[in-house]
Amino acid sequence: MDQLTYRVGNGLYVNTTNRCTMDCTFCIRSRGSGIGNAPDLWLSKEHSREEILKDILRHDPGSYNEIVFCGFGEPTERLMDILYICGELKKQKNPPVIRIDTNGHASLIAGKDVTPLFEGLFDSVSISLNAPTAGEYEKLCRPEAGEEAFYAMLEFASKVKEYVPQTYLSVVDVLPPEKLAACREIADGIGVPLRVRHLI
Ligand code: SF4
Repeated sequence: MDQLTYRVGNGLYVNTTNRCTMDCTFCIRSRGSGIGNAPDLWLSKEHSREEILKDILRHDPGSYNEIVFCGFGEPTERLMDILYICGELKKQKNPPVIRIDTNGHASLIAGKDVTPLFEGLFDSVSISLNAPTAGEYEKLCRPEAGEEAFYAMLEFASKVKEYVPQTYLSVVDVLPPEKLAACREIADGIGVPLRVRHLI
């Protein structure tokens, strides 16, 4: 049976798709099939928004610290479905806190600015910055759109922060200090915090 949700700490993580606009050299998907207590996050198919919602609701989402759209792929590949699910979760008697971990390509995928749609549905947005320049980003993350993807991600970050106050950029903790400093400068320029996450 496909694993649509899994637990990490006191967060309930949601796995909606295996599609992604990048092929990061460090992606966990190239090194295994699961994370934590989820042994296999490869999906046999993309499940409907209703099936995913049902799976989340059976876990009593309000009892978790947060619901996190993350999984084994880029969640905004299914933007309209995840927005629907968030809307239904926010209607619950005890609505959960909702975060999305994203590569920041939602508007690039949609071909238009979709950041206003995040308002009131997501409590926080974590965007992978990964590298301080478009060239390094392309080399490290191998985006389908090439260097354009780097600028699209930065534009997404600068816009979505107007709708989701807890927006931040993230990098993995293997970057050398000078690159980390350059990433911090980028985050400062956009006006969002930079978080350094541990490479799984
Ligand atoms: S954006 Fe995330 S899911 Fe996509 S290839 Fe990179 S690490 Fe993997």
